[in-house]
Parts: sequence; C-alpha cells; structure tokens
Amino acid sequence: MQETTLWQAVLGEVELSISRGNFVTWFKNTQLIRNRDGVVIVGVPNIFVKNQLERKFNDLIVEVLAKNGVEPDRVEYKIHTGMSPASRQDDDNVLRNPRSEGSSPAVTATRPKVAVAQGSHTYRQGINERYTFDNFVVGAGNELAYAACQSIANAPGTKYNPLFLYGGVGIGKTHLIQAVGNAVLTARPGAKVVYISTEQFVQEFVDALRFKRNTSDFAGFYRSADVLIVDDVQFLAGKERVQEEFFHTFNALHQGNRQIIMSSDKQPKDIPTLEERLRSRFAWGMTIDMQNPDFETRCAILQTKAATQNIELESAVVEFLASRVQSNIRELEGALNQLLAYCDMRAVEPSIQIVSTLFEGSKNRPKHISARHIIERTAKHFHVSMEDILGPKRDKDIVVPRQIAMYMLRSELHLSFPKIAHELGRKDHTTAIHSIEKIEKEMSYDSIIHQYVNELKEKLYA
Ligand code: ADP
Ligand code: MG
Repeated sequence: MQETTLWQAVLGEVELSISRGNFVTWFKNTQLIRNRDGVVIVGVPNIFVKNQLERKFNDLIVEVLAKNGVEPDRVEYKIHTGMSPASRQDDDNVLRNPRSEGSSPAVTATRPKVAVAQGSHTYRQGINERYTFDNFVVGAGNELAYAACQSIANAPGTKYNPLFLYGGVGIGKTHLIQAVGNAVLTARPGAKVVYISTEQFVQEFVDALRFKRNTSDFAGFYRSADVLIVDDVQFLAGKERVQEEFFHTFNALHQGNRQIIMSSDKQPKDIPTLEERLRSRFAWGMTIDMQNPDFETRCAILQTKAATQNIELESAVVEFLASRVQSNIRELEGALNQLLAYCDMRAVEPSIQIVSTLFEGSKNRPKHISARHIIERTAKHFHVSMEDILGPKRDKDIVVPRQIAMYMLRSELHLSFPKIAHELGRKDHTTAIHSIEKIEKEMSYDSIIHQYVNELKEKLYA
C-alpha cells in the first residue's frame, strides 16, 4: 500500500515535468514493485517502455524518488505483466514488516509539500515550464479562454478575478492556466505563483490535520500567493472542511486583489455539494466554457506537436489521427506519441499505412464479441430488457445503461459513431457522441460508473 502511495507521489511529480503525451505513453502502466535494501524495482508493461525509462527517464525518476525521501543504490526496470492479487499482497507485506516500516521512506512521501514549498524553493513550485502560451494552439473552442488567460497574465488581479475555466477532459485547461503562471513568472520573476491540484490541496489539508501540524502554516502559504492557480476544483465536492478552508483562502486573496484561477470539469452550479457561498464566489469574476477542439484545431495541434520533435507528418496521417480521436487532446497526443515511438523503434517514416495498421488493426478487437453481445450483456448487467435499451424510453435507469452500452461499443469494438447509434436504434449519431463523452467524463470522477464499466468488461472477457 505504501509503495502505491510512493509511486503515486512520484508519478504526480513526473507528470508535471514531462509532456502529457510522454507521460501517458511511458508511465501509464508502471508500478513500484519493490523498495527495499537500497533497490527500487519499477514494473513496466513491455520492453519498449523498459528501454525508454532506462535510457531517457532514469535520471528524472531517481531525482523525483529522492525528492520523496527515497535514495536507492539502484533502480531497476522489470517487465511485469499484470499483478496478481497474491503478489500484490506479498509486496505489501514486505513493507508492513515493522522493521522496514520504521525507516520506510514511503512514510515521508506523504509529508505535505507545503513545508518544502515554504523553504528556500523558488515559487515555480507546481508550474511546469512546458506549458506556455506559445505552444498552445488557439482554435474554435478555446479562443475565449486563451484571450482571458492572456489578459490575466498581463495584469494579474485586476480583472476577471477569479477566472473559472471549465470543460471536458484533456482539452487544455491545465495547459492554459499553467501558461498564465509561466507568463507571470517571466514578466515578474519575483512573483509568488502557486499552482496546485485540488486533490493535492485536499491531501495537504488532511495531512496537516492528521499530523496535528499547524494548519495556519498551510493556510498562510496559500494565502500569501500573488497568483493562486487551483486545478480541478470539482474535487472539492463533498469535502466540507476543505471547502471551508478554501473559502477563507479565496477571501483573503480576493480582498488583497490577488489573482485566483480555477479549472473544473463542470461549471460551479453543477458541482454537487459545493457550498453556496463558494459557488457564488466562483462566479464573481469570469466563467468560461472550453469546448472540444474542432477538426482543424486537432490537426493543427498534431502538426505542432510533431514539429517540436522535428517531424513533419503527411496530412493524410494527421487527418487520420484527428478524426480518430475526437475530443481529448491528451489522447490525441498519446496516439501521436505511440505512432512516433513505433516508427522510431523500426526506423521507418510515419505513413498512412502504418497509422491504419496501428490504430485500426483488428488485433485489439476481440473477434468473438459482437455489438449485439455487448448490448445484451450491458442490458443484463443493469436488469434492463433489450426492448427498453433499444427503445425510445428516456427513464434514467434505462438511459444510463444505454449510454454505457454505447461507450462499450466504442471502447471495445472501436465502432464509428453512426454505427453505434444504429446498433442502439438511434437515428442521430450525435447522440452517440454525447453519450460516450458523458460516460468518459463520468468515468474520470464518478467511481461508480467506473466500477460498472470495469465489471462489465471483466464479465465480457471472462
Ligand atoms: P485538461 O486539463 O483540460 O484535462 P490538459 O491541459 O492537461 O487538459 O491538456 C492535455 C494535453 O493536451 C496537454 O499535454 C496539453 O499540452 C495538450 N493540449 C491541450 N490543448 C492544447 C492546445 N490547444 N494546443 C496545444 N496543446 C494542447
Ligand atoms: Mg487538467
């Protein structure tokens, strides 16, 4: 358990210091298998990831481990296919061993970062220099947000305070709000710019309480920011005490004309159990809805990302990728990185033949599972009849399973939106797009939906 926590902390830092695409491609399925006797063993899914971590990211990993109090003699990367519950337990037991626990560095990993941030560290804490306005592609869907962020960067605290950006997963919220931080720091190197994810804010607050630290240290740190950037505030939902703390931080900053920037996956009024007083304050300044990027913007983003690696892509390749990944730029970047890594490994140029075999290949499409099969399984799982799931009824207990079925058709069979709509007896393919996006979004914060989908998948492949 502690190894998991440690690795989470490491991944969190790594994520901030490399591009999202690289992060997803190389770190997504890694885990800490062992941290003992001066040896850290990192489990990786395949030889490519192993090579890449050894060659390119080892120094970074060592550095971040050290930051979290772990300074092994060596770090090894082992190919690790899935983890059986039994071996997981074993690994836990190793750490639960009281002797190793006393000195276990993993314990220090949970130490709130406030202490570090308050020391001699620069206030670049949490700001990743990679996210700039320069490398942000402006297009339909994000231009308003971009303009607001630029104007804030030019004169923080004077207008649009707070700025509240909201929109779907992976569409550039974090990138933009971090870009403000970078721009402010460039213009005024002495400014105290603090970026924090809401999860981290919550964690630090909880730790401060739990370890009976002085919560005023914690509060003081955030309340003395010139620019406070808080990412993913939807995670304040249901956390009363943290909301209370956040309320006071907000007030202190706002009264002092300090800039507050927030992002969320939904607008304030839709964040469940958000205290009314916070809800209304969040809307005091400017609230901007970021839309999914359109096709042209997605193409431009791909070209830009490839260009940063000195690679020029044929437009057919770009268009193929841009039409395959519709809403999530993180996923788009991931697909591009996958393609580039594939080509790099084999020393070939990216081509339309390669992308189509890589991404449309039937190899990850289970042949024995049909669309009908998935719909039946989903209906059964939720005790809904086939007639209802395929029919016109709009009751919630039918709509949600229907949406999940659509999501499954997309994620498991990679069907096109019109085909998915057709399979569920809908005429309009935009219904399929909306349903799938909705489930994708909910998967990211609604663990019940997440659980349903996982259960379904397990049954499907059992
Ligand atoms: P969000 O916070 O909305 O979930 P991110 O800001 O993390 O999304 O964006 C996901 C990835 O996509 C990041 O690597 C980011 O740099 C990239 N990205 C998103 N929008 C753009 C854009 N308009 N131009 C360039 N890169 C973008
Ligand atoms: Mg984000």
